[in-house]
This record gives sequence, structure tokens and C-alpha cells, in this order.
Amino acid sequence: MATAIISDLHSNTEALTEVFKDIKANQCDQIYCLGDLVGYGPNPAEVVEMCFESKICLLGNHDEGVLKNSYGFNPIAKQAIDWTRDQLKPGFLSSGRKKRIWSFLRSLPIVYKVDSVLFVHASPRDPIMEYVLRTDCMDLFGKPSDKIADIFTKVEWLCFAGHTHDPGVIMQDGQFIRPQEMDDGKFKFERSKRYIINVGSVGQPRDGDTRACYAIFDGETIRFRRVEYDYRRTMEKIFAVPQLDRKLGERLALGK
Ligand code: ZN
Repeated sequence: MATAIISDLHSNTEALTEVFKDIKANQCDQIYCLGDLVGYGPNPAEVVEMCFESKICLLGNHDEGVLKNSYGFNPIAKQAIDWTRDQLKPGFLSSGRKKRIWSFLRSLPIVYKVDSVLFVHASPRDPIMEYVLRTDCMDLFGKPSDKIADIFTKVEWLCFAGHTHDPGVIMQDGQFIRPQEMDDGKFKFERSKRYIINVGSVGQPRDGDTRACYAIFDGETIRFRRVEYDYRRTMEKIFAVPQLDRKLGERLALGK
């Protein structure tokens, strides 16, 4: 059974369309989405609809911001969230389409667990908000940081997450292994160890690579995939919406 795990789509239809093609070409049986369907990008409604077919779909912090409020977000993210809410929130007379999209967002759970495998948007301690950054994993003495040690107490075997837009595997000893350091982007999990896996971002990669990122999990091995898409088109769409800061478009061309 091959599961495609996608995260942080951020209203980017161009990226998600190409990722879906790649998922099909790789004969995956199902799709799990770890949240942040919306925020930052220009096509929130379309991206939410594209996620209707995913087997599992979790709530991310931007999705929650759209449903509730955008307090605590930086000004650029906040403005994008408020614009997204204006696009999606149905009124009394809204179309069935709009109502379906909103009620789908409202139905999203924040964690999913099957056997000893946990799925969250952000972190097992704080499933929606906590950042587990590459730089958080090891302390100055090359040991796992207190933060990562505590987070691992919540991991039985595997924990899949997104949120940082920076793909890789975190080991219990504090190492962060990037996909380009793996053999062919593949990593095999041992039963006796524990791991946190960040699947990267479909719609706004931040690891210096403009290509959309996701991962395929077959029950014991993860394979990271990078997929090219026309980010210039997404960028132009962002530039056309005054409420979406230009920087949100420009960063797609940098992968940062
Ligand atoms: Zn995100």
C-alpha cells in the first residue's frame, strides 16, 4: 500500500495539479494531506475542492486562521488569511459549492493515528502550531535538544508532519537528514527506532528548491518527491490580488 503524503498546499493549484499527476504516475493507493490547504496563495476554493478526494485531511494553522481568526500571524500572512476568509466564508444566500468547501474545512481533524504512526500538521506536542525546525534538533554539544527529546516522548514509532516547509527525517539522536543526503531520496525506517518525518511543502517550498515537495510512504520506507510546476503562473496570480503581498509570489521563485 503506497500512501502519498502531502502538506502545506497553500492555495497553489499549479503545484498541486502537478503533484497529483506525479502521485498517479507513481501508482499511490491513497492521499493523506497534513493541512494548510489555504493561506498565502491565490486559489483557496480550488485547492480545498481538490482535497475532497484525499483519504485523510488534517487542519493546519492557516486553515484554522481562516475558520477562526488571524491573531498571532505576521502581517503578510494575516492579510492573506483574511482575504482567504472573504473568498470562502459562505453567507445565507451563498452557493452550495461555497457551503461545501466551508463545511469540509470545518470538519477537518487535527491528528490522525494508525497503529504506531501519527500524523499532524505541526508537532506531536502541539499538532497545529509548534515549529520543529531543522535548527531545533541538536543542542550545542551535538546531543538531541531538550525540545526534541520531549517531542520524541510523544512519538511511538513514526510521526509525519509538515508546517516548516523544510523536508527531512529527524532522528532521535537529533540528526536532521535532508532528502538530498539520502540515497535516491529514500529512507528506510527501523522498527526499533523512532522518527519524525517532515514531508515538505507542495505550494510554498522553503528549502531553496522551487519544486513542489511531497513524500510516498509504503509502510517501511519513505521516498521524497520533487515536482516541477509553473510557479511563474502562480506568482502572476498572486500579483493580481492586492491583498496578497508581492513577497508571497516572489518567494515561490526562490523556494524560500
Ligand atoms: Zn504552511
